[in-house]
Amino acid sequence: MLIKIFITILFAKIIQCQINLSRFSPLVENLVKNYGKQTVEQSKYHQIYDFVIVGSGPGGCVLANRLTENPKIKVLMIEAGTVETIAQGVPLIAPLSVESRYNWGYLAEKQEYSCRGLRDGQCAYPRGKALGGSSVINGMVYTRGSKGDFDHWKQLGIENWDYETQVLPAFKRSERANLKYFHKPEFHNISGSLSVTNSPYETPFAKIFINAMKSLNYSEIDLNSDDSIGVGRLQSNTLRGVRHSAFEAFIRPVLKRKKFTHHDQHTCDKNSH
Ligand SMILES: Cc1cc2nc3c(=O)[nH]c(=O)nc-3n(C[C@H](O)[C@H](O)[C@H](O)COP(=O)(O)OP(=O)(O)OC[C@H]3O[C@@H](n4cnc5c(N)ncnc54)[C@H](O)[C@@H]3O)c2cc1C
Repeated sequence: MLIKIFITILFAKIIQCQINLSRFSPLVENLVKNYGKQTVEQSKYHQIYDFVIVGSGPGGCVLANRLTENPKIKVLMIEAGTVETIAQGVPLIAPLSVESRYNWGYLAEKQEYSCRGLRDGQCAYPRGKALGGSSVINGMVYTRGSKGDFDHWKQLGIENWDYETQVLPAFKRSERANLKYFHKPEFHNISGSLSVTNSPYETPFAKIFINAMKSLNYSEIDLNSDDSIGVGRLQSNTLRGVRHSAFEAFIRPVLKRKKFTHHDQHTCDKNSH
């Protein structure tokens, strides 16, 4: 009996609360007015967020991660694709992911001078459709832009792209490097979110190739440092030999943040509200 009374009071409070809220927010008012007319799917979204991020590619994942560091900020991330399977994690079969449902499957416009051997002269234009975006189907090669390019932008007067004070710290903040081959430690960080490693396996050919290049006076370099010309081993976004997508790196560890919501398999379009 007591429980019944408690539940009745609780319901009354909830209804009262909704009515009071409706005075303040047209969105909530609309929600209350149309309550019952909506589908469950729609009602999931009818909340107020400080930020709505459309797309969970590396861009969206990093943004969601950083914004939700502040526990007061309420963030919704919407993604058209879904979570990757174990198969996307296997580097050897990465090229097959381009043939999967994790690719939007776009075709480029008909080309006059290229793609001529392809049907209607159209090349495939893969783009990821997954939690993690293209980082779920990409080649996992970790390559930052070249220092010279960023410096050039700065010379052109573009603000906020100073390599030493802004770009490099941002790269380092995201990185969790565990590199076993030649690298310049001052360009790397070992405590970020995104794993950067060398391939755990290489054929004897790699060493032969590097030695051959050195004999031609190319230095062995860290491709993600201030050196751009030389020879070096690739660094990749893998963790213990498995793909480390943007979702795995930046979102999975923060899923429990209270004010963070993400929905997959929902495409935002002009009719989304
Ligand atoms: C085959 C391939 C290989 C690559 N190899 C490498 C590599 O080895 N190294 C490297 O550094 N880079 C590589 N890249 C590029 C790299 O993956 C991209 O630069 C990077 O993923 C871009 O991130 P993004 O967040 O801008 O966009 P994306 O990764 O494209 O993510 C955008 C996300 O938004 C979602 N989305 C789009 N529209 C909507 C909508 N209306 N509603 C809801 N969701 C939506 C998409 O489904 C997608 O998940 C490769 C890319 C591809 C396709």
